[in-house]
Amino acid sequence: MKAVTLLEKGKIAIKDDYNPERKLGEQDVEIRLMACGVCGSDVHYYTHGRIGPYVVEKPMVLGHEASGQIVRVGSGVTHLKVGDRVCMEPGIPRFDSAETLAGCYNLDPELTFFATPPIDGCLCETIIHPAAFTFKLPDEVSYYEGAMVEPVAIGMQSATKAGIRPGDIALVYGAGTIGIVTALCALAGGCSDVIIVDMVDSKLEVAASYKNIHAVNARTGDLKAVVDDLTGGAGCDVVFECSGAGAVVTGICEHVKANGTVVLTGIPLELPPFDIAAAQAKEVTFKTVFRYANMFPRTIRLIRSGALDIKRLISKVFEFNDAVAAFERAASGTAGDVKIMIDCSKI
Ligand code: ZN
Repeated sequence: MKAVTLLEKGKIAIKDDYNPERKLGEQDVEIRLMACGVCGSDVHYYTHGRIGPYVVEKPMVLGHEASGQIVRVGSGVTHLKVGDRVCMEPGIPRFDSAETLAGCYNLDPELTFFATPPIDGCLCETIIHPAAFTFKLPDEVSYYEGAMVEPVAIGMQSATKAGIRPGDIALVYGAGTIGIVTALCALAGGCSDVIIVDMVDSKLEVAASYKNIHAVNARTGDLKAVVDDLTGGAGCDVVFECSGAGAVVTGICEHVKANGTVVLTGIPLELPPFDIAAAQAKEVTFKTVFRYANMFPRTIRLIRSGALDIKRLISKVFEFNDAVAAFERAASGTAGDVKIMIDCSKI
């Protein structure tokens, strides 16, 4: 079958002889791919050939943000049927690991994740996937939105960890895809206002197009004045770090209120210095996020209800046969792009 394959660093091709090993098990479904988002991690493997300890050493199929239609179900699957429109959670844990049994299956050290070397991604014609990690899409949720559930689930995990109370005011550092969806999830979770900070105006413009998101350029704006204005000088109830910038982590307690919460979602590339005394002076609670667990059904419900309006985050759609151009566009960092989507309906 056809598969969008990273051959080596800097080289992507659509191969047509892909033959995945996984056979349909009793508890599996086979899904015909309909849409797949391009993620920053896919682009990083393309441009750098590695992310931390994960190195591309042999050709790897890309893609992990996907939706599709079920074409085959295993004999033991009861909650899904042929023809169902679904999206897939890309991380598969061991079902009997200590972490899975404790409810945090995302932390299973042997979890396999689409498009993380040496595991292939899902940007191919059909994939076989555990039914337990395949989620039905309501009629109101499109395949493109279904493919967005994966990145939005990270915002959902972040907002959930934050323990938001109705009327909270949040601050989000970073207006990339994860920063914006975290801001939206914070609003859906009860925040009255979210301030979002970045240094790129085109990203901030997308964020500011949403009601109750206040965009601030860290270079040209006055973040302290905006925080003071919205919080009466008390500081933000919750601060989300979604930029991955070490310097942001160093000063992360500056705008959080006393007894407030900081959620570390972005993964800093370097080890940043950190001011422990500043955190102690406010008795800040820290939470950390590694992907998500049990967030897909909630995310789908909020997209259907309209509380999470993510359609406008899809900046450009490419056909499957133009997938190489889609990754090039994502790698080019075109101003204003949030999510590049690949339409797989005509493979
Ligand atoms: Zn992703």
